[in-house]
Amino acid sequence: MIETLKRADFAYAPFFLNNEEGIRNYTQSLKIMENTLIHFLDGNNSPYSGKKPHDLEARINELSITSQKGETFESVAAELAEFVINDSMNVHSPTCIGHLHCPTLIPAVAAELIISTLNQSMDSWDQSSTATFVEERIIDWLCNQAGLPEQADGVFTSGGTQSNYMGLLLARDAYCKRIWNVDVQQQGLPADSKKLRILCSEAAHFTVRKSAAQLGLGEQAVITIKTDSKHRLSIDEINHQLKKLKEQDLLPFAIVATCGTTDFGSIDPLAELAEIAKLNGIWLHVDAAYGGAMMLSHDFKASIKGMEAADSITVDFHKLFYQPISCGAFLVSDRDHFKYIQHHADYLNPEEDEAEGMVHLVNKSIQTTRRFDALKLWLSLKVVGLDTFGEMIDYTCHLARDAAAMIDDEAGFRVLNRHPELNAVVFRYDPEGVSAQLTDQLNKQIQQELLNNGRAFLAKTRFNGEVYLKMTLLNPMTTLEDIKEILDEIRILGEMFNMMEE
Ligand SMILES: *Cc1c(COP(=O)(O)O)cnc(C)c1O
Repeated sequence: MIETLKRADFAYAPFFLNNEEGIRNYTQSLKIMENTLIHFLDGNNSPYSGKKPHDLEARINELSITSQKGETFESVAAELAEFVINDSMNVHSPTCIGHLHCPTLIPAVAAELIISTLNQSMDSWDQSSTATFVEERIIDWLCNQAGLPEQADGVFTSGGTQSNYMGLLLARDAYCKRIWNVDVQQQGLPADSKKLRILCSEAAHFTVRKSAAQLGLGEQAVITIKTDSKHRLSIDEINHQLKKLKEQDLLPFAIVATCGTTDFGSIDPLAELAEIAKLNGIWLHVDAAYGGAMMLSHDFKASIKGMEAADSITVDFHKLFYQPISCGAFLVSDRDHFKYIQHHADYLNPEEDEAEGMVHLVNKSIQTTRRFDALKLWLSLKVVGLDTFGEMIDYTCHLARDAAAMIDDEAGFRVLNRHPELNAVVFRYDPEGVSAQLTDQLNKQIQQELLNNGRAFLAKTRFNGEVYLKMTLLNPMTTLEDIKEILDEIRILGEMFNMMEE
């Protein structure tokens, strides 16, 4: 006789269908989490508690990270608040304006709960059913917003890194097929692949180089083009480079145009680059991780003109679309190009399924198991509405222009981009009669002290070897008054640190 295997009687009901207790644990856990978060967020204007990295690490190292018998959710939540949440970077603070790191929208946060609870996996239709079609609808809408042609298509990604990689991967494989009739997926890289070149501006994102390395071309394949006075790829320079490459018998197969550079938010001349790419039979990838959001702008839509002529586009939603990390998309003007990454696995996405109307999105992705991140964008667009979305983005761009003008007017400050195209402002405290070297040091100290005293988080960067401060004004809740106060504080700190030097 076969003995029936008895299910263990769990001390804690961790699953929804476990019993009534499962549902109760769920609702109670959420309530506790909600209260814990509200305690942190409510009225908290500071971007950071100010604790030093060593102190934080020492505290976290004291935590026990497992429990043999399990602990109550309340006690774990209390520990979580004390050791983790209270010393987190507060992205919702109007003075947390360092990186391209956004406050999250409430409907998107609520959607995260649905995404995780439903836990659909976007690789095959039989793990995602409705979710597959929702993602497809949103991709269609995005292609439309970007102005791409009818045969365009796309897929959600983990972000700009993955999208840029995909753009260059498809560009490489399409080129090898066209020029040498080589199927890279099957045969690997042809001998002449050593000659392949990618062109992008010196301000392009570092993931262009990383992708080149991962694609077997090496970073040597990336030719960086000088930028003009507005930090945009120089058309004269790229024409000059293309001529030079031809003379050297090298093969430029992709141009990466940046729509919103990481430091300055500058936008390369997209329409002119599209023309050059077309003329030379080169793939144009537009890295619009940051600037892609301008497709929703009312006032600045013209700034991304030319994007519609791209062969592929990167858009990030965890930047100017205010989505929780991670959320991005890769769009391609001709869906046929996805064939370069297709692989049919018997257990997952056999070709015969297509006759049944099953759509397996793994065919368009370099990921297999993948989150239903499209849902949070959908809920955000619906609840917030396109009008408000556009107004929020426009406000931040106007704010950056006003902030740059204000800082430029202040004695003892220097702005690098007096006319920001998006919403980043790069500047530094630059008092008269202080050496360049000491000015660098003062700016570093100021940036550190603003974070330590919890007043503001500004990023620091370098330009022509000098240290600069950067405000990335993504948050529509930030005001010009906030920025004015930060400037006053910077001046006080700068004078104090300078005096300590004398
Ligand atoms: C943020 C960013 C990336 C990288 O995207 P992730 O989402 O961080 O992977 C690439 N390019 C640009 C221009 C970016 O701003």
